Amino acid sequence: MYTINYESAAFILSVTCLLYSLTVKRRQYIVRGGFLSKLQNQHFVFILLLISNILSSASSVGGVFLQEIATDKTASWQYLLHALYFVFHTTLSVCFTLYIIDVTGTGVGRSRRFFILFSLPYLAAELLVLTNSFTGLAFYMDELHIYHRGPMMPALYAVGALYVVLGFVFFYRYKQAVSRADSIAIGTVIIMASLGIVIQAVRSDLLVELFAEALAFLMLMVMLEERGGHIDPVTGALNRIAFMDANRRYIQTEQRYGIVVVKLTNLEQYSRLFSGRKMENLLQQLATWFTSISSRQDLYSCDREEFAVLVMDDAPGAAEELAKKVLARFRHDWQCDDMTLRLDAAVVVIHVPEELSGLEQLEELLADSFQNSEGGSRLVNNDEMAAFRRSRSMEQALRRAIDNRALRVWYQPIRSVSRGRTAAMEALLRVDSEELRGISPEIYIPIAEKCGLIRDIGLFVFEDVCRFLSEYPAETSGLGYIELNLSVYQFLYDDLPQRFEEIRARYGIPASRLNFEITESASDQAASGVAEAIEKLRRLGYSFSLDDFGTGYANLNRLVSGKYLNVKIDKSLLWDSDHNDDTRRLLESLTRVIQSLGYNVMQEGVETTAQLDRVTASGCDLIQGYYFSRPIPEQEILQYLREENN
Ligand code: C2E
Ligand code: MG
Ligand code: MG
Repeated sequence: MYTINYESAAFILSVTCLLYSLTVKRRQYIVRGGFLSKLQNQHFVFILLLISNILSSASSVGGVFLQEIATDKTASWQYLLHALYFVFHTTLSVCFTLYIIDVTGTGVGRSRRFFILFSLPYLAAELLVLTNSFTGLAFYMDELHIYHRGPMMPALYAVGALYVVLGFVFFYRYKQAVSRADSIAIGTVIIMASLGIVIQAVRSDLLVELFAEALAFLMLMVMLEERGGHIDPVTGALNRIAFMDANRRYIQTEQRYGIVVVKLTNLEQYSRLFSGRKMENLLQQLATWFTSISSRQDLYSCDREEFAVLVMDDAPGAAEELAKKVLARFRHDWQCDDMTLRLDAAVVVIHVPEELSGLEQLEELLADSFQNSEGGSRLVNNDEMAAFRRSRSMEQALRRAIDNRALRVWYQPIRSVSRGRTAAMEALLRVDSEELRGISPEIYIPIAEKCGLIRDIGLFVFEDVCRFLSEYPAETSGLGYIELNLSVYQFLYDDLPQRFEEIRARYGIPASRLNFEITESASDQAASGVAEAIEKLRRLGYSFSLDDFGTGYANLNRLVSGKYLNVKIDKSLLWDSDHNDDTRRLLESLTRVIQSLGYNVMQEGVETTAQLDRVTASGCDLIQGYYFSRPIPEQEILQYLREENN
């Protein structure tokens, strides 16, 4: 009968996997550090798995072969091969469990005691095999050199089974710690290996166990170990996906560790000067240096400018120690080919779990931490991190406020100098929630802009203003139009004009009663489609005012290129003119220049009689300020208008 030699097949398969693994190895595969840190290296354990499978199958095949040609001379060899088979086979099951412990990240931070306890059954089994030549408890050979099982053989199998079951328990307990794809891979491998064991137990003539395991390892290699997609091709370090995966694993399994992220803040500027090749050399040099100072930990290359190391050492200050080393090195130059350059590194240290509870938060922290683009190498300090956290909590407060319908629109009158009465008003956002009451939108509007909430906020303000206008028609309120602040970020949504039109139509408000205040930066975003959107809204009948004129990059060209109803001079200029004659003269000429272009001049921030007199004397058309009224709620502004009309 033709029989397949499964164990030879297992041998060939595992050797192939091993060769492949070793030749496509990544930088991190070169294992350094002590034994425990090696255990943390998943790949190292995988290599051990393959080697155990190769040695088990080789000794088994060898044993069977010798049995066929058995002579007295070969007897001791035959015995040795049988013994080796058991040595490696037990090792295989231990490695299997270690592998699972490793993949789920549950080994990190475990005590020495855990590993000692863990290895006790293994050591006992190996002792049984190694002393077998004296005891014959595991197996023995009769005079005809036929192999027989000894009385303790079931114990050997029990130890193997114990580790497989333990591996399964670890996997089941911590399966949230691995990504879905990885957990499918591991699950399949456990099933395949178990199937092999069961078949071999039932049909002892079918030696398929090692073959099933070799197949399972092949699968592991393809699905899990072959992390080509997880390696940065330039630096050879693990990439951002791997970084997130590792953090997910460690957070889920409640590890205590530090994350050190280094951002090269001025790399971009060199990349414009360098050839691609030179840049790669530099990055490789950096990766090598980072590996050299953190040899016990994996290096991650999160993106081109960002390196990260996870410091699993729970000694207090270990992460800070690493950060210090990085900063010390970045105080010196780097040599790249024939160039000497100084790189700036901003270093962030995040302690888990104290400062981080989930992956999402990690993404946020990383996005925030490097916003501050100060020059030079530096540690992003606690104050800055606290500020980021405040801004995040404000974002959440804002989200809650939107959900709880706590947004309000308040109004501040805009007075026409020539008519001596309120001609328009500015709609200003307020939040009526415990957390944000009394806080100026100046603080949270920029946050809303960054996190996208500005879209909903903008639509809410627009709708509420439309409702207000529909409830109080011009005839009763005496109001011309309402000015709304429009942030450049709102233009990121292409459907903005369409949404405005839908809302406006619903309330039956003519577009001419709505005026958008945009800032200089918004009026200058021609490239990003802002200009088009503004033009579209203009054609639909909305008018525009230029807000905060005179701040930022004041550019007179903007005055010429845009078409505005009003140009609103920033309050800081007015306040400065209180004690600065030059600014006062500037304001006067500015007023004339703006008017000569056909726009109305509006002055915001008028608080005192002196300011009012000055502004009126310089010929300003419209005035807004606390002198007349602060921003007030709808009912109060109606009262204000009524009193004014009487
Ligand atoms: P802004 O558009 O320049 O609005 C004028 C700001 O100056 C308002 O601050 C107003 O209360 C304040 N103000 C007016 N007159 C005086 C005065 O005499 N003295 C002083 N000290 N302040 C005066 P507010 O309401 O805190 O708003 C701050 C900024 O938040 C606004 O500046 C605007 O950029 C933004 N903002 C407010 N509401 C919205 C909104 O609905 N959407 C958008 N995109 N931004 C908004
Ligand atoms: Mg404004
Ligand atoms: Mg303003």
